[in-house]
Amino acid sequence: MDLGTVFVIGAGPAGLFAARKIATAGYEVVVFNRDIKPGGLAEYGIYPQKFHMKAGLRKQFFKFLEMPNLHYFGNVPVSNNAALSIGELQQWNPSAVVYSVGAQGTKKLGLPGEESKGLYSAKDYVFNYNQLPPFTSMDFSSGRRVAIIGMGNVMVDIARWLLQDMPGKKPEEVMVIARRGPFEVKFDEKEFDHIEMHLDRQALQDELRRVEERIRACDQEISKVSDTSFPWLKKAASRPAEGRLTFRFLTSPCAVKPDAQGRISRLTVIENLLLRKGDTTVSKSTDQTIDLDFDTLIFAIGDVVDPALGLPYEKGSYLTNPDSSDAERAAYEVFDPQTGKVLEGQFVVGWARKASDGLVGKARFDAEQGCTYVLKYLEAAAKKTAPAAAEIAKELARKNRQFVNKDAVKLLARAEEAQAKARNLPAFKFSKNEEMLAAIEKERATAFPGKTPSGKSEAA
Ligand SMILES: Cc1cc2nc3c(=O)[nH]c(=O)nc-3n(C[C@H](O)[C@H](O)[C@H](O)COP(=O)(O)OP(=O)(O)OC[C@H]3O[C@@H](n4cnc5c(N)ncnc54)[C@H](O)[C@@H]3O)c2cc1C
Repeated sequence: MDLGTVFVIGAGPAGLFAARKIATAGYEVVVFNRDIKPGGLAEYGIYPQKFHMKAGLRKQFFKFLEMPNLHYFGNVPVSNNAALSIGELQQWNPSAVVYSVGAQGTKKLGLPGEESKGLYSAKDYVFNYNQLPPFTSMDFSSGRRVAIIGMGNVMVDIARWLLQDMPGKKPEEVMVIARRGPFEVKFDEKEFDHIEMHLDRQALQDELRRVEERIRACDQEISKVSDTSFPWLKKAASRPAEGRLTFRFLTSPCAVKPDAQGRISRLTVIENLLLRKGDTTVSKSTDQTIDLDFDTLIFAIGDVVDPALGLPYEKGSYLTNPDSSDAERAAYEVFDPQTGKVLEGQFVVGWARKASDGLVGKARFDAEQGCTYVLKYLEAAAKKTAPAAAEIAKELARKNRQFVNKDAVKLLARAEEAQAKARNLPAFKFSKNEEMLAAIEKERATAFPGKTPSGKSEAA
């Protein structure tokens, strides 16, 4: 029986777990993804050296793609600025749409000098080293002194890249700048273990003394830091390492000063106080500023969603139903403030719903939970008929959109595995869309001589 078709926009972990759940319930599912490859941040965010984790997730996602009623169109961004808009999607009359596009917007602090060269958002920076086009071809150069704003796991990944794995000359110092204190770190101990050998223990002790009085106002004692957030203070570095990792607490950036070439040369920071607020702490800026020398500044402060997608948007988030009578369900429903009603049959899940919130497991939970409401909606909703995936493929081809279907994604994986083997590397990625598309065609020509090239007219 034809139950109807659900569109899933975005094939990161949230989108793929959502797609699987809806397809398992018997619906046709059509996934549209901006990137050629599925996986989202599992492919392009998680640290490159976590080979095992990345390969495990990839394997799981490829298994989902094998479901016959799950169709995939990669290289098809949906947005007001792209070949396919939400309005055009709706013309295909899907029974429901699940938006799982992640958090693709950038949080701006609005600092004077923010347009200087050498300033990067963490998301763009990790996209670059994880080889996501077009970020792979952009300038993410760094120099001797790098500042990272924020002290979560993303900061740890970026410091690890800069100090250990980045090809070429590595920085002499990476300084982590945090608006609160040493007890408010957000990174996990096992992640920091990867970079503890760079931690300048003496500099950290000096920094703790510098902020000692201010954190005592919140009953925090620096003598406890080594028992809680920085256990590495109790031991020597596990191995000698070049490149120092330092911390500056109770400090916020407030202006960037560029050099004659327009690249950041100094960062003005402001000193903060630490105040208690309920069971947490907050920072409060003073009027004391100081200039620090940096040639690179990376913001690892979380992201926001991208308003260009075209969903109702406010302050970095897509709007969801404020109805408190069933808040859990409402939190997944897209809400239009102009009409004061939900956009019928439209849902958000994963980081698109709550930007930068948690690990893959959390995105999965969120998507699957959201889909219980999608399925309830579908059971009660009037029946709709969308074109078959093969028809959508033809229409995309008519719009000159060179999409990639799930067979093509498999061919690409095969081509990359072959490259890794030939180069004796644990993994290999093509870093340009054109290279991926060419590799798919080459692989296809070998595997299926005489078959139609991708993106023309075949089914997804
Ligand atoms: C630097 C970094 C390191 C991380 N490391 C780990 C880790 O080690 N372990 C772990 O468990 N978690 C890690 N995470 C968290 C994990 O990656 C996220 O929890 C998870 O990827 C969020 O899933 P998502 O599907 O909501 O969003 P995303 O993974 O961002 O996926 C979004 C998808 O939507 C697509 N898309 C975007 N815009 C559009 C559009 N307009 N139209 C169509 N498609 C679109 C994208 O191509 C992408 O495929 C890390 C995150 C970051 C940023």
